[in-house]
Amino acid sequence: MHFPEACDFVVFGGTGDLALRKLLPALYHCDLEGRLPADTRVIAVSRSELDDDGYRAEARAALAEHVAAEFQDLAAVERLLERVHYVTVDVQDPGSWQPLFDTLKDRENADEAVRVFYLSVAPSLFGPICHELGVNGFAEAPARVVVEKPIGTDLASAKAVNNTISEFFDESQIFRIDHYLGKESVQNLLVTRFANTFLEPLWNSHSIDHVQITVAETLGTGNRAGYYDRSGAMRDMVQNHLLQLLCLVAMEPPIEIGGGREDVRDEKLKVLQALKPMTPADVDRDTVRGRYTSGWVAGKPVEGYVEELGHESMTETFVAIKAEVQNWRWAGVPFYLRTGKRLDRRVSEIVVVFKNAPYDPFRQREGVTEPNRLTIRVQPEEGMQIHLNAKEPGPGGYRLKPVSLDLSYANAFDKRSPDAYERLLMDVIRGNMTLFMRRDEVEAAWAWCEPILKHWESAALTPKSYPAGSAGPTASFTLIERDGRSWQES
Ligand code: NAD
Repeated sequence: MHFPEACDFVVFGGTGDLALRKLLPALYHCDLEGRLPADTRVIAVSRSELDDDGYRAEARAALAEHVAAEFQDLAAVERLLERVHYVTVDVQDPGSWQPLFDTLKDRENADEAVRVFYLSVAPSLFGPICHELGVNGFAEAPARVVVEKPIGTDLASAKAVNNTISEFFDESQIFRIDHYLGKESVQNLLVTRFANTFLEPLWNSHSIDHVQITVAETLGTGNRAGYYDRSGAMRDMVQNHLLQLLCLVAMEPPIEIGGGREDVRDEKLKVLQALKPMTPADVDRDTVRGRYTSGWVAGKPVEGYVEELGHESMTETFVAIKAEVQNWRWAGVPFYLRTGKRLDRRVSEIVVVFKNAPYDPFRQREGVTEPNRLTIRVQPEEGMQIHLNAKEPGPGGYRLKPVSLDLSYANAFDKRSPDAYERLLMDVIRGNMTLFMRRDEVEAAWAWCEPILKHWESAALTPKSYPAGSAGPTASFTLIERDGRSWQES
């Protein structure tokens, strides 16, 4: 791993939503802070007939819209735009590629520049792009290819996507993004677990009662309804983001984090392999599928999923699952996962709920106690809370009350919290793969999800309804409450 002096950052799908909303603002912040290699070009590619100036105008407008006002620096925007070039290519038409190849060769030290090919396009285009790059000699290391989810819709199609890319790129050149792994609070979970001593003796089935992972959105499917209907919450969220978070909570300490080693990815893979496979009976008992009907969100009436989509559908917009990690550390500790759209709040968090004290010497007390909890807030405000029981001040005996120690990133560090893409794009340029999903991880995650998806399909049950703006289907509460536990709403 070394920091290159020259880089060509090629964005296929440069006029698309992801490129304009996330990638360009991330590159802007990296450039503003002087983190890009000095000799970096950003080469946007798509089918639209544009020239450099036409694309720069689109990029300028995107930066004005998506970079927060306090970080808008017009001189820095223009500096970035000087690095930006645009090439029209229909990636499915081999005859249209030559201008891109000419642009790539048309620079000083063209052979030494690290080439990053960011495939911000539909997965059906991964094959044609990798093929053209490969047969024309542009896939040789140190070239890198970056792909976004979805990587397949089941195990077989994920393998097919991976095979397509691997035909021309070695695994050491393939960066599969799960942007959750670039979030500061998610990386801080690794630091909290592995740079402190106080948690490790407690981080197992002796002290932990269960773990909850919630990724709740208030938005519906919006203009992505067509795409979403072929995916659903299980494929869109659980197979990647929720399982990645579960891995970071459950993994064993790695020998080294980063440093060009594979330890983190090896340990995450072991967790995925330890997930208890679900039988059809397990799926019936331990999973809930839901779908929103019309309701109210933030005081406004909103349509149900089927009305938004315009036709009947069996796709779920909500999933809750009770999962088990079958290994020495976690035997008997349930991991409750839930995610959904059009819920009553927007939050992504991990809650580790500890066991009750074995004995209560305060049993004559007044007030309430709750089990200790560690909450890792991934969004909206990144931070961490430790929930303890404390004595309420006062002379009259012991009156106990739960209180929380609150670490808000925004308050604790007088620094801007970078967007996940900033960290991840810099890692791609540096060649650091730790926060990217390896092929075997993606496939192990699909292998666990597939029996659940198959059973849902064969049972052909309509997902359970929940009104938009609610906390999800009633069955998702039953799933956890029948175990004598409840979802923690912080
Ligand atoms: P988009 O539809 O907004 O953009 C697609 C881009 O591909 C456009 O620039 C279009 O011109 C280009 N394109 C399409 N066909 C082409 C062709 N034949 N030749 C050259 N260019 C062509 O899509 P998006 O939302 O930006 O998403 C891009 C990828 O990232 C998809 O795989 C998506 O699933 C994934 N993704 C997107 C987001 C997001 O927030 N938008 C989040 C996660 C994953």
